[in-house]
Amino acid sequence: MKINKIVIANRGEIALRIIRSAKEMGIKTVAVYSEADRLAMHVRYADEAVFIGEAPSASSYLDIDKILKAAKDTNAEAIHPGYGFLSENANFAQKVKDAGLIFIGPSAESIKVMGSKLGAKESASKFNVPMVPGSGKALSNISEAKETAKKIGFPVLIKASAGGGGKGMRIVEKEEEFEEQVQRASSEAKSAFGDGSVFIEKYISSPKHIEIQILGDQYGNIVHLFERECSIQRRYQKVVEEAPSPVVTPEIRAAMGKAAIEVASSCNYYSAGTVEFIMDENKNFYFLEMNTRLQVEHPVTESISGVDLVKEQIKVAQGEKLSFTQNDLTIRGHSIELRVYAEDPTNDFLPDIGTITHYKKPQGPGIRVDDGFEAGMEIPIYYDPMIAKLTVSAENRETAIARMIRAIDEYEITGVQTTLAFGKFVMQHKAFIDGSFDTHFVKDYFKPEYLNDKLSEEENMLVALLAGEVLKEKKLNVNRENQISNWRKR
Ligand code: ADP
Ligand code: ADP
Ligand code: MG
Repeated sequence: MKINKIVIANRGEIALRIIRSAKEMGIKTVAVYSEADRLAMHVRYADEAVFIGEAPSASSYLDIDKILKAAKDTNAEAIHPGYGFLSENANFAQKVKDAGLIFIGPSAESIKVMGSKLGAKESASKFNVPMVPGSGKALSNISEAKETAKKIGFPVLIKASAGGGGKGMRIVEKEEEFEEQVQRASSEAKSAFGDGSVFIEKYISSPKHIEIQILGDQYGNIVHLFERECSIQRRYQKVVEEAPSPVVTPEIRAAMGKAAIEVASSCNYYSAGTVEFIMDENKNFYFLEMNTRLQVEHPVTESISGVDLVKEQIKVAQGEKLSFTQNDLTIRGHSIELRVYAEDPTNDFLPDIGTITHYKKPQGPGIRVDDGFEAGMEIPIYYDPMIAKLTVSAENRETAIARMIRAIDEYEITGVQTTLAFGKFVMQHKAFIDGSFDTHFVKDYFKPEYLNDKLSEEENMLVALLAGEVLKEKKLNVNRENQISNWRKR
């Protein structure tokens, strides 16, 4: 069925991203917005906009009934959930379907299976997908669990089955701490995710996070669109992502791609999805989890594959077959994304909320900026403090790194601290350049004082004065050169 109008159940850059693809397909768009987003760009950019409630997400972007009503009231046929918010809520996907609407994403059943990390492992075990050594099931008997942990060997990682967004994980270094940590992890998981199930995984000491983008239609065809390297993280959350990975060989890529397609087919997956793996220092990879939605870092994959993932999601939701096979897909060049957060890297990457007083984005060849802010706008405290995603594309990794540095230098944001300078630090670091970095990059190499070359007001004045002098001198030289050359020409 051809979709004519879509409600975007999200905000910020991802809402704009989805509206853009819909517009190119001739599809009308409806934005929803909370009190905090009255002046937001996604509201102005959509064809229609519906107010859905107070600023806290529970009263607006997480309110299923209000979003369904917005779709009914505007005669939309489909809902795109974006990422975060309701995107991985199986109940929401089911209610959308029950209301006679199309959910632009996988089936409620697939979301349910993969929404639980343990359910995902069980589903994937139908195939020979490599798993991180661990308990494989929820911990119920503490002495039995301790035996498992000893067998795996400390340190171990306790994880919440329902966890996400880097939350719900605890490292246990010693046997003596085990029992207490399990209890704490379980009660935290219960209050954060409404499900206290926790399990153990071997703690991989020097891991790389590498994930595979997959895309499937409703007829059982599934392809993968190669890997993304996402090891530069803080708080178990990604900040820099790239495609392809500098350490993945064609053989590993083929094996990971095959495993990812198996994970997806184990739950009859369709639409876009991501299968996450962890890779140890010997390049063994293990299945971590599957994210049943569009991922924040999808632009790097769009760049190297030439596929618009949002358009593909919409086509699949309309019941179309994939128009290409695995053999049609090739990697073109290299792409790197930096998540520009309103965070202070010199203060443990804590959010730095405020008003953006000046904003100028980089331009030129190979640059894509997905953002939702303009100068004068405030970053609301209620939501994720991401300002923008800066994505660069080039013919190879070396040029992409140089381009990212150039783009960071061009980017002007004042009023809040951002991850821009940290991004430049990463691009210039030897371990990033040679590809040897792992998920401990920040802990191992980064110190706040590396960015503390911020100048005082007085120093800035002095620099400006000096620059003025230099410029004057340069002009004089230029003029002199011109005069000379003009002389000669005559
Ligand atoms: P991605 O997984 O797409 O690489 P993130 O891990 O940053 O990126 O997650 C995307 C968004 O979803 C973020 O805004 C994050 O805070 C949110 N998110 C993911 N999982 C959960 C969860 N279980 N509970 C709350 N928010 C979540
Ligand atoms: P989430 O749902 O929060 O995204 P993941 O299972 O994807 O949870 O893990 C998030 C991050 O935590 C990974 O990218 C990696 O940095 C770290 N991590 C997860 N499992 C392990 C493990 N077994 N050993 C070491 N680090 C891990
Ligand atoms: Mg994850």
